[in-house]
Amino acid sequence: MSGASSGLWSAGALIQASYFLTAVLFIMGLKRMSSPVSARSGIVWAGAGMLVATVVTLAYPGMSNYPLIGAAIVLGAALAWWSGKRVAMTNMPQMIALYNGMGGGAAASIAAVELYRRGGGEGMSTALAVAGGLIGAVSFSGSAIAFGKLQGLIQRSIRFRGQQLLSVLLLIGAVLPGVLEVVRPGGSAQYVTGLLSGALLLGLAMTLPIGGADMPVVISLYNALTGLAVGFEGFALHNAAMIIAGTVVGSAGTLLTQLMAKAMNRSLGNVLFSGFGESGGEAAGAVSGSLKPIESPDVGVMLAFAQKVIVVPGYGMAVAQAQHKIWELCQLLIERGVTVRFAIHPVAGRMPGHMNVLLAEAGVPYDLIGDLEEINGEFETADVALIIGANDVVNPVARTEKSSPIYGMPILNADRARNVIVIKRGKGAGFSGIENALFYLDNTRMLYGDAQKVGAELIQAVKALG
Ligand code: NDP
Repeated sequence: MSGASSGLWSAGALIQASYFLTAVLFIMGLKRMSSPVSARSGIVWAGAGMLVATVVTLAYPGMSNYPLIGAAIVLGAALAWWSGKRVAMTNMPQMIALYNGMGGGAAASIAAVELYRRGGGEGMSTALAVAGGLIGAVSFSGSAIAFGKLQGLIQRSIRFRGQQLLSVLLLIGAVLPGVLEVVRPGGSAQYVTGLLSGALLLGLAMTLPIGGADMPVVISLYNALTGLAVGFEGFALHNAAMIIAGTVVGSAGTLLTQLMAKAMNRSLGNVLFSGFGESGGEAAGAVSGSLKPIESPDVGVMLAFAQKVIVVPGYGMAVAQAQHKIWELCQLLIERGVTVRFAIHPVAGRMPGHMNVLLAEAGVPYDLIGDLEEINGEFETADVALIIGANDVVNPVARTEKSSPIYGMPILNADRARNVIVIKRGKGAGFSGIENALFYLDNTRMLYGDAQKVGAELIQAVKALG
Protein backbone atom coordinates (compact mmCIF):
# COMPACT_ATOMS: atom_id res chain seq x y z
CA MET A 1 0.00 0.00 0.00
CA SER A 2 1.48 3.38 -0.95
CA GLY A 3 2.01 6.10 1.65
CA ALA A 4 -0.67 8.31 0.06
CA SER A 5 -3.34 5.61 -0.01
CA SER A 6 -2.54 4.48 3.53
CA GLY A 7 -2.85 8.17 4.58
CA LEU A 8 -6.26 8.31 2.87
CA TRP A 9 -7.26 5.02 4.48
CA SER A 10 -6.40 6.27 7.93
CA ALA A 11 -8.33 9.50 7.24
CA GLY A 12 -11.31 7.35 6.25
CA ALA A 13 -10.95 5.19 9.35
CA LEU A 14 -10.72 8.31 11.52
CA ILE A 15 -13.88 9.69 9.96
CA GLN A 16 -15.78 6.44 10.55
CA ALA A 17 -14.50 6.30 14.13
CA SER A 18 -15.66 9.89 14.69
CA TYR A 19 -19.10 9.04 13.31
CA PHE A 20 -19.20 6.09 15.66
CA LEU A 21 -18.37 8.43 18.55
CA THR A 22 -21.13 10.76 17.33
CA ALA A 23 -23.63 7.90 17.36
CA VAL A 24 -22.58 6.88 20.87
CA LEU A 25 -22.99 10.49 22.07
CA PHE A 26 -26.47 10.71 20.47
CA ILE A 27 -27.62 7.48 22.11
CA MET A 28 -26.19 8.37 25.52
CA GLY A 29 -27.72 11.85 25.22
CA LEU A 30 -31.13 10.42 24.40
CA LYS A 31 -30.87 7.97 27.28
CA ARG A 32 -30.10 10.83 29.67
CA MET A 33 -33.04 12.85 28.31
CA SER A 34 -35.43 10.18 29.57
CA SER A 35 -35.16 11.43 33.17
CA PRO A 36 -35.71 15.05 34.31
CA VAL A 37 -32.68 14.69 36.60
CA SER A 38 -30.25 14.11 33.73
CA ALA A 39 -32.18 15.70 30.81
CA ARG A 40 -30.09 18.88 30.64
CA SER A 41 -26.83 16.96 30.43
CA GLY A 42 -28.46 14.71 27.80
CA ILE A 43 -28.96 17.75 25.57
CA VAL A 44 -25.30 18.68 26.05
CA TRP A 45 -24.14 15.14 25.17
CA ALA A 46 -26.25 15.06 22.02
CA GLY A 47 -25.05 18.58 21.12
CA ALA A 48 -21.43 17.41 21.51
CA GLY A 49 -22.25 14.52 19.15
CA MET A 50 -23.58 16.96 16.58
CA LEU A 51 -20.46 19.11 16.95
CA VAL A 52 -18.16 16.13 16.34
CA ALA A 53 -20.19 15.09 13.26
CA THR A 54 -20.13 18.64 11.84
CA VAL A 55 -16.39 19.13 12.36
CA VAL A 56 -15.57 15.72 10.86
CA THR A 57 -17.80 16.35 7.85
CA LEU A 58 -16.06 19.67 7.21
CA ALA A 59 -12.70 17.90 7.29
CA TYR A 60 -13.87 15.30 4.73
CA PRO A 61 -11.37 14.86 1.86
CA GLY A 62 -12.69 16.58 -1.26
CA MET A 63 -14.95 18.97 0.67
CA SER A 64 -15.32 22.35 -0.99
CA ASN A 65 -17.44 25.52 -0.80
CA TYR A 66 -16.19 26.42 2.66
CA PRO A 67 -17.24 30.12 2.51
CA LEU A 68 -20.84 29.16 1.68
CA ILE A 69 -20.92 26.46 4.37
CA GLY A 70 -19.37 28.85 6.90
CA ALA A 71 -21.94 31.55 6.13
CA ALA A 72 -24.80 29.03 6.47
CA ILE A 73 -23.45 27.77 9.80
CA VAL A 74 -23.02 31.28 11.23
CA LEU A 75 -26.51 32.34 10.07
CA GLY A 76 -28.18 29.14 11.31
CA ALA A 77 -26.36 29.18 14.66
CA ALA A 78 -27.20 32.85 15.25
CA LEU A 79 -30.90 32.33 14.45
CA ALA A 80 -31.10 29.18 16.60
CA TRP A 81 -29.33 30.88 19.52
CA TRP A 82 -31.57 33.94 19.34
CA SER A 83 -34.83 31.99 19.00
CA GLY A 84 -33.80 29.41 21.64
CA LYS A 85 -33.07 32.15 24.18
CA ARG A 86 -36.30 34.03 23.50
CA VAL A 87 -38.86 31.24 23.24
CA ALA A 88 -41.36 30.91 26.11
CA MET A 89 -42.05 27.42 27.52
CA THR A 90 -45.62 27.63 26.24
CA ASN A 91 -44.33 28.26 22.69
CA MET A 92 -42.00 25.28 22.73
CA PRO A 93 -44.26 23.00 20.62
CA GLN A 94 -44.16 25.36 17.62
CA MET A 95 -40.41 25.78 18.04
CA ILE A 96 -40.04 22.00 17.90
CA ALA A 97 -42.30 21.91 14.83
CA LEU A 98 -40.10 24.47 13.11
CA TYR A 99 -36.80 22.74 13.82
CA ASN A 100 -38.22 19.32 13.11
CA GLY A 101 -39.48 20.57 9.75
CA MET A 102 -35.99 21.81 8.98
CA GLY A 103 -34.63 18.31 9.65
CA GLY A 104 -37.12 16.90 7.15
CA GLY A 105 -36.25 19.67 4.69
CA ALA A 106 -32.53 18.92 5.08
CA ALA A 107 -33.14 15.21 4.37
CA ALA A 108 -35.23 16.11 1.30
CA SER A 109 -32.51 18.50 0.10
CA ILE A 110 -29.86 15.77 0.38
CA ALA A 111 -32.15 13.49 -1.63
CA ALA A 112 -32.64 16.22 -4.24
CA VAL A 113 -28.90 16.86 -4.62
CA GLU A 114 -28.10 13.14 -4.81
CA LEU A 115 -30.90 12.26 -7.24
CA TYR A 116 -30.35 15.21 -9.61
CA ARG A 117 -26.59 14.45 -9.55
CA ARG A 118 -26.83 10.68 -10.07
CA GLY A 119 -29.52 10.59 -12.72
CA GLY A 120 -31.21 7.39 -11.50
CA GLY A 121 -29.78 3.91 -11.42
CA GLU A 122 -27.70 2.52 -8.53
CA GLY A 123 -30.68 0.35 -7.50
CA MET A 124 -31.14 0.14 -3.77
CA SER A 125 -29.21 3.31 -2.97
CA THR A 126 -31.46 5.37 -5.30
CA ALA A 127 -34.56 3.72 -3.86
CA LEU A 128 -33.47 4.75 -0.36
CA ALA A 129 -32.71 8.30 -1.48
CA VAL A 130 -36.17 8.47 -3.09
CA ALA A 131 -37.86 7.14 0.08
CA GLY A 132 -35.95 9.61 2.27
CA GLY A 133 -36.77 12.48 -0.10
CA LEU A 134 -40.46 11.64 -0.11
CA ILE A 135 -40.77 11.34 3.67
CA GLY A 136 -38.52 14.32 4.37
CA ALA A 137 -40.49 16.61 2.05
CA VAL A 138 -43.83 15.55 3.61
CA SER A 139 -42.39 16.21 7.06
CA PHE A 140 -41.02 19.60 5.98
CA SER A 141 -44.23 21.07 4.55
CA GLY A 142 -46.44 19.35 7.19
CA SER A 143 -44.32 20.71 10.03
CA ALA A 144 -44.45 24.20 8.50
CA ILE A 145 -48.28 24.06 8.65
CA ALA A 146 -48.13 22.70 12.22
CA PHE A 147 -45.91 25.65 13.15
CA GLY A 148 -48.34 28.10 11.49
CA LYS A 149 -51.29 26.66 13.40
CA LEU A 150 -49.61 26.64 16.79
CA GLN A 151 -48.26 30.16 16.26
CA GLY A 152 -51.77 31.34 15.39
CA LEU A 153 -50.74 32.27 11.82
CA ILE A 154 -53.27 29.76 10.45
CA GLN A 155 -56.45 30.20 12.44
CA ARG A 156 -58.75 27.56 11.01
CA SER A 157 -58.58 23.98 9.85
CA ILE A 158 -59.21 23.82 6.12
CA ARG A 159 -61.64 21.01 5.33
CA PHE A 160 -63.59 20.14 2.22
CA ARG A 161 -65.22 17.11 0.64
CA GLY A 162 -62.83 14.80 -1.14
CA GLN A 163 -59.92 15.82 1.05
CA GLN A 164 -58.78 12.28 1.72
CA LEU A 165 -59.11 11.44 -1.98
CA LEU A 166 -56.89 14.43 -2.77
CA SER A 167 -54.29 13.17 -0.29
CA VAL A 168 -54.37 9.70 -1.89
CA LEU A 169 -53.95 11.23 -5.36
CA LEU A 170 -51.04 13.35 -4.16
CA LEU A 171 -49.44 10.29 -2.59
CA ILE A 172 -49.71 8.45 -5.91
CA GLY A 173 -48.47 11.59 -7.69
CA ALA A 174 -45.35 11.58 -5.51
CA VAL A 175 -44.67 7.83 -5.38
CA LEU A 176 -45.07 7.20 -9.12
CA PRO A 177 -42.23 9.46 -10.33
CA GLY A 178 -40.15 8.14 -7.43
CA VAL A 179 -40.62 4.57 -8.63
CA LEU A 180 -39.83 5.60 -12.23
CA GLU A 181 -36.63 7.31 -11.03
CA VAL A 182 -35.55 4.00 -9.48
CA VAL A 183 -36.52 1.61 -12.30
CA ARG A 184 -35.79 3.66 -15.45
CA PRO A 185 -32.10 3.52 -16.37
CA GLY A 186 -30.60 7.01 -16.13
CA GLY A 187 -33.72 8.39 -14.39
CA SER A 188 -34.88 11.91 -15.18
CA ALA A 189 -34.74 15.29 -13.48
CA GLN A 190 -38.48 15.57 -14.12
CA TYR A 191 -39.15 12.45 -12.03
CA VAL A 192 -37.20 13.96 -9.13
CA THR A 193 -39.07 17.26 -9.42
CA GLY A 194 -42.40 15.38 -9.58
CA LEU A 195 -41.49 13.28 -6.53
CA LEU A 196 -40.49 16.25 -4.39
CA SER A 197 -43.31 18.61 -5.40
CA GLY A 198 -45.90 15.84 -4.93
CA ALA A 199 -44.49 15.11 -1.46
CA LEU A 200 -44.47 18.80 -0.46
CA LEU A 201 -48.12 19.17 -1.51
CA LEU A 202 -49.01 15.95 0.31
CA GLY A 203 -47.57 17.34 3.57
CA LEU A 204 -49.77 20.45 3.15
CA ALA A 205 -52.91 18.47 2.27
CA MET A 206 -52.43 16.07 5.18
CA THR A 207 -51.86 18.73 7.82
CA LEU A 208 -54.19 21.60 6.87
CA PRO A 209 -57.39 19.76 7.97
CA ILE A 210 -56.02 18.71 11.37
CA GLY A 211 -57.17 20.81 14.36
CA GLY A 212 -54.55 23.07 15.96
CA ALA A 213 -55.20 21.25 19.23
CA ASP A 214 -53.88 17.97 17.83
CA MET A 215 -50.68 19.50 16.53
CA PRO A 216 -48.38 18.18 19.29
CA VAL A 217 -49.21 14.60 18.28
CA VAL A 218 -48.78 15.49 14.62
CA ILE A 219 -45.42 17.12 15.35
CA SER A 220 -44.31 13.99 17.14
CA LEU A 221 -45.35 11.94 14.10
CA TYR A 222 -43.43 14.23 11.74
CA ASN A 223 -40.49 14.00 14.10
CA ALA A 224 -40.53 10.22 13.63
CA LEU A 225 -40.79 10.68 9.85
CA THR A 226 -37.88 13.12 9.81
CA GLY A 227 -35.76 10.56 11.66
CA LEU A 228 -36.71 7.92 9.13
CA ALA A 229 -35.89 10.24 6.22
CA VAL A 230 -32.47 11.07 7.68
CA GLY A 231 -31.81 7.34 8.22
CA PHE A 232 -32.67 6.57 4.56
CA GLU A 233 -30.43 9.37 3.32
CA GLY A 234 -27.68 8.00 5.58
CA PHE A 235 -27.93 4.69 3.72
CA ALA A 236 -27.87 6.50 0.38
CA LEU A 237 -24.73 8.44 1.39
CA HIS A 238 -23.15 5.50 3.30
CA ASN A 239 -23.01 7.75 6.36
CA ALA A 240 -23.15 5.74 9.59
CA ALA A 241 -23.81 8.75 11.86
CA MET A 242 -26.90 9.71 9.84
CA ILE A 243 -28.18 6.14 9.82
CA ILE A 244 -27.86 5.76 13.59
CA ALA A 245 -29.13 9.26 14.46
CA GLY A 246 -32.06 8.88 12.05
CA THR A 247 -33.01 5.47 13.42
CA VAL A 248 -32.82 6.70 17.02
CA VAL A 249 -34.96 9.79 16.27
CA GLY A 250 -37.37 7.74 14.17
CA SER A 251 -37.98 5.13 16.86
CA ALA A 252 -38.12 7.66 19.71
CA GLY A 253 -40.63 9.75 17.72
CA THR A 254 -42.75 6.69 16.96
CA LEU A 255 -42.84 5.67 20.62
CA LEU A 256 -43.69 9.22 21.71
CA THR A 257 -46.50 9.45 19.15
CA GLN A 258 -47.93 6.18 20.44
CA LEU A 259 -47.63 7.28 24.07
CA MET A 260 -49.40 10.59 23.40
CA ALA A 261 -52.19 8.96 21.42
CA LYS A 262 -52.61 6.35 24.18
CA ALA A 263 -52.69 8.99 26.94
CA MET A 264 -55.50 10.73 25.03
CA ASN A 265 -57.14 7.35 24.33
CA ARG A 266 -57.17 8.06 20.61
CA SER A 267 -55.87 6.24 17.60
CA LEU A 268 -53.44 7.94 15.25
CA GLY A 269 -56.12 7.70 12.54
CA ASN A 270 -58.53 9.59 14.79
CA VAL A 271 -55.91 12.32 15.37
CA LEU A 272 -55.16 12.62 11.65
CA PHE A 273 -58.73 12.53 10.34
CA SER A 274 -61.20 13.59 13.06
CA GLY A 275 -60.77 17.34 13.64
CA PHE A 276 -60.82 16.89 17.43
CA GLY A 277 -61.02 20.12 19.45
CA GLU A 278 -62.49 22.01 16.51
CA SER A 279 -66.09 21.65 17.56
CA GLY A 280 -65.56 23.74 20.74
CA GLY A 281 -68.76 24.35 22.61
CA GLU A 282 -70.75 21.97 20.40
CA ALA A 283 -69.04 19.08 22.09
CA ALA A 284 -69.98 20.30 25.55
CA GLY A 285 -72.17 17.75 27.29
CA ALA A 286 -74.92 18.78 29.71
CA VAL A 287 -73.53 19.17 33.22
CA SER A 288 -75.80 19.66 36.21
CA GLY A 289 -75.05 21.63 39.38
CA SER A 290 -73.55 25.04 39.93
CA LEU A 291 -70.11 26.57 40.12
CA LYS A 292 -69.31 27.50 43.75
CA PRO A 293 -66.68 30.23 44.12
CA ILE A 294 -64.34 30.54 47.10
CA GLU A 295 -61.81 33.21 48.18
CA SER A 296 -58.07 32.80 48.75
CA PRO A 297 -58.08 33.32 52.57
CA ASP A 298 -60.55 30.45 52.99
CA VAL A 299 -58.48 28.18 50.75
CA GLY A 300 -55.37 29.19 52.72
CA VAL A 301 -57.01 27.89 55.92
CA MET A 302 -58.17 24.70 54.20
CA LEU A 303 -54.65 23.97 52.92
CA ALA A 304 -52.83 24.90 56.11
CA PHE A 305 -54.94 22.57 58.23
CA ALA A 306 -55.00 19.68 55.76
CA GLN A 307 -53.01 16.50 56.35
CA LYS A 308 -52.47 15.75 52.70
CA VAL A 309 -52.67 17.99 49.62
CA ILE A 310 -52.24 16.75 46.05
CA VAL A 311 -51.37 19.47 43.55
CA VAL A 312 -52.51 18.90 39.94
CA PRO A 313 -50.78 21.30 37.53
CA GLY A 314 -52.06 21.86 33.99
CA TYR A 315 -51.69 24.07 30.97
CA GLY A 316 -52.95 27.17 32.88
CA MET A 317 -50.03 26.92 35.32
CA ALA A 318 -47.65 27.00 32.35
CA VAL A 319 -49.42 30.02 30.80
CA ALA A 320 -49.32 31.89 34.12
CA GLN A 321 -45.74 30.75 34.87
CA ALA A 322 -47.05 30.05 38.37
CA GLN A 323 -44.76 27.13 39.22
CA HIS A 324 -42.43 29.17 41.47
CA LYS A 325 -45.29 30.62 43.52
CA ILE A 326 -46.96 27.23 43.81
CA TRP A 327 -43.76 25.60 45.05
CA GLU A 328 -43.26 28.45 47.55
CA LEU A 329 -46.80 27.79 48.82
CA CYS A 330 -46.13 24.05 49.05
CA GLN A 331 -42.92 24.63 51.01
CA LEU A 332 -44.92 26.64 53.57
CA LEU A 333 -47.39 23.78 53.82
CA ILE A 334 -44.63 21.19 54.21
CA GLU A 335 -43.09 23.29 57.01
CA ARG A 336 -46.47 23.10 58.74
CA GLY A 337 -46.43 19.30 58.53
CA VAL A 338 -48.78 18.92 55.55
CA THR A 339 -47.95 16.05 53.18
CA VAL A 340 -47.72 17.54 49.69
CA ARG A 341 -47.54 15.62 46.43
CA PHE A 342 -47.74 16.64 42.78
CA ALA A 343 -49.77 14.56 40.31
CA ILE A 344 -48.70 14.73 36.68
CA HIS A 345 -50.89 13.50 33.85
CA PRO A 346 -48.92 12.36 30.78
CA VAL A 347 -50.59 14.95 28.53
CA ALA A 348 -51.02 17.80 31.03
CA GLY A 349 -49.97 21.00 29.28
CA ARG A 350 -49.20 21.10 25.59
CA MET A 351 -46.30 18.74 25.16
CA PRO A 352 -45.01 15.61 26.83
CA GLY A 353 -43.06 16.37 29.99
CA HIS A 354 -44.33 19.98 30.03
CA MET A 355 -45.23 19.92 33.73
CA ASN A 356 -42.13 17.99 34.77
CA VAL A 357 -39.93 20.63 33.16
CA LEU A 358 -41.77 23.51 34.88
CA LEU A 359 -41.74 21.84 38.30
CA ALA A 360 -38.05 20.97 37.91
CA GLU A 361 -37.38 24.61 36.99
CA ALA A 362 -39.10 25.71 40.22
CA GLY A 363 -37.00 23.24 42.24
CA VAL A 364 -39.71 20.73 43.22
CA PRO A 365 -37.93 17.53 44.40
CA TYR A 366 -38.63 14.59 42.08
CA ASP A 367 -39.75 12.33 44.91
CA LEU A 368 -42.78 14.57 45.51
CA ILE A 369 -43.95 14.07 41.93
CA GLY A 370 -46.08 11.09 40.97
CA ASP A 371 -47.33 10.09 37.55
CA LEU A 372 -50.88 8.98 36.80
CA GLU A 373 -50.64 5.27 37.65
CA GLU A 374 -48.55 5.92 40.71
CA ILE A 375 -50.66 8.62 42.34
CA ASN A 376 -54.22 7.94 41.25
CA GLY A 377 -54.91 5.65 44.21
CA GLU A 378 -53.84 8.41 46.61
CA PHE A 379 -56.58 10.95 45.87
CA GLU A 380 -59.00 9.13 48.17
CA THR A 381 -56.65 9.83 51.08
CA ALA A 382 -56.14 13.51 50.20
CA ASP A 383 -57.91 16.30 52.08
CA VAL A 384 -57.46 18.71 49.18
CA ALA A 385 -56.81 18.26 45.46
CA LEU A 386 -55.45 21.64 44.34
CA ILE A 387 -55.99 21.95 40.59
CA ILE A 388 -53.93 24.70 38.99
CA GLY A 389 -54.96 25.54 35.43
CA ALA A 390 -55.74 21.90 34.64
CA ASN A 391 -59.02 20.97 33.02
CA ASP A 392 -59.35 17.99 30.63
CA VAL A 393 -56.91 15.82 32.57
CA VAL A 394 -59.22 15.87 35.63
CA ASN A 395 -62.58 15.71 33.84
CA PRO A 396 -64.53 12.72 35.24
CA VAL A 397 -66.76 12.48 32.15
CA ALA A 398 -63.79 10.70 30.55
CA ARG A 399 -64.74 7.77 32.79
CA THR A 400 -68.51 7.88 32.35
CA GLU A 401 -69.76 9.79 29.28
CA LYS A 402 -69.52 7.59 26.19
CA SER A 403 -70.46 10.48 23.89
CA SER A 404 -67.69 12.73 25.20
CA PRO A 405 -64.70 13.34 22.90
CA ILE A 406 -62.41 12.53 25.83
CA TYR A 407 -64.24 9.31 26.79
CA GLY A 408 -61.73 6.65 27.72
CA MET A 409 -58.85 9.06 28.27
CA PRO A 410 -57.21 8.05 31.57
CA ILE A 411 -57.66 10.94 34.01
CA LEU A 412 -56.34 11.94 37.41
CA ASN A 413 -58.98 11.00 40.02
CA ALA A 414 -59.02 14.45 41.63
CA ASP A 415 -62.80 14.19 42.15
CA ARG A 416 -62.14 11.46 44.74
CA ALA A 417 -60.34 13.85 47.12
CA ARG A 418 -62.34 15.15 50.09
CA ASN A 419 -62.17 18.72 48.78
CA VAL A 420 -61.28 20.01 45.35
CA ILE A 421 -60.03 23.55 44.73
CA VAL A 422 -59.81 24.64 41.09
CA ILE A 423 -57.70 27.68 40.22
CA LYS A 424 -58.59 29.15 36.82
CA ARG A 425 -59.42 32.59 35.46
CA GLY A 426 -63.05 32.06 34.51
CA LYS A 427 -65.23 29.72 32.52
CA GLY A 428 -62.66 29.03 29.82
CA ALA A 429 -62.82 25.50 28.44
CA GLY A 430 -59.82 23.21 28.24
CA PHE A 431 -58.09 21.96 25.14
CA SER A 432 -60.95 19.64 24.14
CA GLY A 433 -63.48 22.48 24.34
CA ILE A 434 -65.88 20.62 26.62
CA GLU A 435 -67.45 21.42 29.98
CA ASN A 436 -65.82 19.86 33.06
CA ALA A 437 -68.15 17.94 35.40
CA LEU A 438 -65.56 18.15 38.21
CA PHE A 439 -66.12 21.90 38.58
CA TYR A 440 -69.81 21.31 39.44
CA LEU A 441 -69.36 18.63 42.11
CA ASP A 442 -70.50 19.28 45.71
CA ASN A 443 -66.94 18.99 47.03
CA THR A 444 -65.46 21.41 44.46
CA ARG A 445 -64.84 25.14 44.95
CA MET A 446 -63.67 27.52 42.21
CA LEU A 447 -60.87 29.95 43.06
CA TYR A 448 -60.94 32.40 40.16
CA GLY A 449 -57.90 34.33 38.99
CA ASP A 450 -54.59 34.08 37.18
CA ALA A 451 -52.68 31.14 38.70
CA GLN A 452 -49.61 33.23 39.57
CA LYS A 453 -51.66 35.95 41.25
CA VAL A 454 -53.74 33.41 43.18
CA GLY A 455 -50.56 31.56 44.17
CA ALA A 456 -49.23 34.80 45.75
CA GLU A 457 -52.54 35.35 47.57
CA LEU A 458 -52.46 31.81 48.96
CA ILE A 459 -48.90 32.30 50.21
CA GLN A 460 -50.07 35.42 52.08
CA ALA A 461 -53.10 33.59 53.42
CA VAL A 462 -51.02 30.70 54.82
CA LYS A 463 -48.37 33.08 56.22
CA ALA A 464 -51.11 35.08 57.95
CA LEU A 465 -52.03 31.96 59.94
CA GLY A 466 -48.61 32.11 61.61
P1 NDP B 1 -56.49 22.25 29.46
O1 NDP B 1 -56.03 22.84 28.18
O2 NDP B 1 -57.52 21.19 29.39
O3 NDP B 1 -57.06 23.41 30.42
C1 NDP B 1 -56.27 24.49 30.79
C2 NDP B 1 -57.10 25.41 31.68
O4 NDP B 1 -56.20 26.40 32.19
C3 NDP B 1 -58.21 26.13 30.96
O5 NDP B 1 -59.46 25.61 31.32
C4 NDP B 1 -58.05 27.62 31.38
O6 NDP B 1 -59.28 28.10 31.93
C5 NDP B 1 -56.95 27.58 32.43
N1 NDP B 1 -56.03 28.71 32.32
C6 NDP B 1 -55.53 29.28 31.21
N2 NDP B 1 -54.72 30.30 31.52
C7 NDP B 1 -54.71 30.38 32.88
C8 NDP B 1 -54.06 31.24 33.80
N3 NDP B 1 -53.25 32.25 33.41
N4 NDP B 1 -54.26 31.04 35.13
C9 NDP B 1 -55.07 30.03 35.55
N5 NDP B 1 -55.71 29.19 34.72
C10 NDP B 1 -55.54 29.36 33.40
O7 NDP B 1 -55.19 21.76 30.23
P2 NDP B 1 -54.77 20.34 30.82
O8 NDP B 1 -53.33 20.50 31.17
O9 NDP B 1 -55.71 19.87 31.87
O10 NDP B 1 -54.96 19.34 29.62
C11 NDP B 1 -54.11 19.33 28.51
C12 NDP B 1 -54.89 19.07 27.25
O11 NDP B 1 -54.03 19.25 26.15
C13 NDP B 1 -55.46 17.66 27.20
O12 NDP B 1 -56.75 17.67 26.63
C14 NDP B 1 -54.49 16.95 26.29
O13 NDP B 1 -55.06 15.87 25.61
C15 NDP B 1 -54.11 18.09 25.35
N6 NDP B 1 -52.85 17.83 24.69
C16 NDP B 1 -51.71 17.67 25.42
C17 NDP B 1 -50.56 17.28 24.80
C18 NDP B 1 -49.31 17.02 25.58
O14 NDP B 1 -48.39 16.44 25.02
N7 NDP B 1 -49.23 17.44 26.82
C19 NDP B 1 -50.49 17.09 23.35
C20 NDP B 1 -51.73 17.35 22.68
C21 NDP B 1 -52.84 17.70 23.35
P3 NDP B 1 -59.57 29.69 31.99
O15 NDP B 1 -59.48 30.18 30.60
O16 NDP B 1 -60.92 29.79 32.59
O17 NDP B 1 -58.51 30.28 32.87
